Amino acid sequence: MNQSEENQKLILNYVEKNCVRTGLQTHPMPDVTEAVVGGLTNHLNLLKRPLCPCQFYPDKQEAVQERTWLCPCDDMKQYKYCHCLLFVNSEGNPITEHLPKDHDGLTTYGLVADPAPEKGRKGQHRPTEIKTAEAKTVSP
Ligand code: SF4
Repeated sequence: MNQSEENQKLILNYVEKNCVRTGLQTHPMPDVTEAVVGGLTNHLNLLKRPLCPCQFYPDKQEAVQERTWLCPCDDMKQYKYCHCLLFVNSEGNPITEHLPKDHDGLTTYGLVADPAPEKGRKGQHRPTEIKTAEAKTVSP
């Protein structure tokens, strides 16, 4: 297996794990997923990092250093929103439910509910954990 094939395998493994972590799925049209996986693999080959293939970068090395668009990008980690349509719901739409009101994803796609809101967001608390903490705080 050559380096590019190994990198593609790494990306495919990562995609599978991120789907489990977030409760989302890859796009129902295989061509979309293949294109994004191919773009991530190319960036891994060239830059040694999985830089998002759906953005324009005046300087890719600088973008790697900034880390905002390393997959999973900040929007995926915080809001479960994938600009590239790699991680989506069963209809192929990106999740917009958690986005800030001024985010362009809401204008483009409208409100798209998260099929697994209990999973996959940075800093997310499970309701049971919040209840436990509150119970401890208010108990005498
Ligand atoms: S938009 Fe974010 S989560 Fe989606 S492929 Fe690009 S970097 Fe990855």
